[in-house]
Amino acid sequence: MSLTFCTLFSGSSGNAVFLGGDEGSLLIDCGMSCKQVMEAMREAGLQPSTVSALLITHEHSDHVKGAGILSRQLHIPIFATQGTWMGMEKAIGPVSDRDRVVITAGESFFLSGFEVVPFSIPHDANDPVGYRFYHKRHSVAVATDLGHFSQTVADALYGTEVVLLESNHDPDLLRRNPHYPARLKSRILGKKGHLSNEDGAGAAVWLAESGAKHLLLGHLSNENNTPDMAYRTTHAALTAAGARVGEDVSLHIAARYRASYLYQLV
Ligand SMILES: [Zn+2]
Ligand SMILES: [Zn+2]
Repeated sequence: MSLTFCTLFSGSSGNAVFLGGDEGSLLIDCGMSCKQVMEAMREAGLQPSTVSALLITHEHSDHVKGAGILSRQLHIPIFATQGTWMGMEKAIGPVSDRDRVVITAGESFFLSGFEVVPFSIPHDANDPVGYRFYHKRHSVAVATDLGHFSQTVADALYGTEVVLLESNHDPDLLRRNPHYPARLKSRILGKKGHLSNEDGAGAAVWLAESGAKHLLLGHLSNENNTPDMAYRTTHAALTAAGARVGEDVSLHIAARYRASYLYQLV
């Protein structure tokens, strides 16, 4: 009886998360090519043949790039909200009716030994969701692409043991970035954009206080953040709140282009 959780890719350049349990495995998002995601799985010693479904958070290309091909190649269904289906349909190509599953935020369902709870996230997409998964006495969650840490998100994550949490950017680096147009900057900084390091750190403190044991910071911006900045900001906030990092709660950064931090809960 064990649960395996690991990011395969994490960042504005592409996202995919592996979740394995006793009765099969799930992938959350496929924002790199199908080939890259399969390779990353094999490199981490994870078997693509065990994957029984692909769950999508929202239609942005860093989450769906290889989704259609992966579904067709592995013959697995895709789970997404109606809004996400409408947003990604053209980009991912044909998916048979059998492999097309519509889910609703707030309505849980059972899949491959997991109870899956999709929850609404504040992000500029069509009905985007994060996910919390329950497996035996464990629970893990994927919570990235958050314009802010809303009450809905906080409620959904309360008491989760392992959380992949967004720590997207340093606002000063973003504001000073000469390559980003003003509109893009205000989109990212907006209430439906992405969570900054500071806001991620505040969320991390809240999560640790609610019972989280492992925090994995992910979806870092390539240009407007560094793993070190993200780590230091959250580490400082947790320490200031009285949490001992490494004892009360572990803190790690999800790697951008490879499998990172394989959590194995028994
Ligand atoms: Zn997005
Ligand atoms: Zn994203």
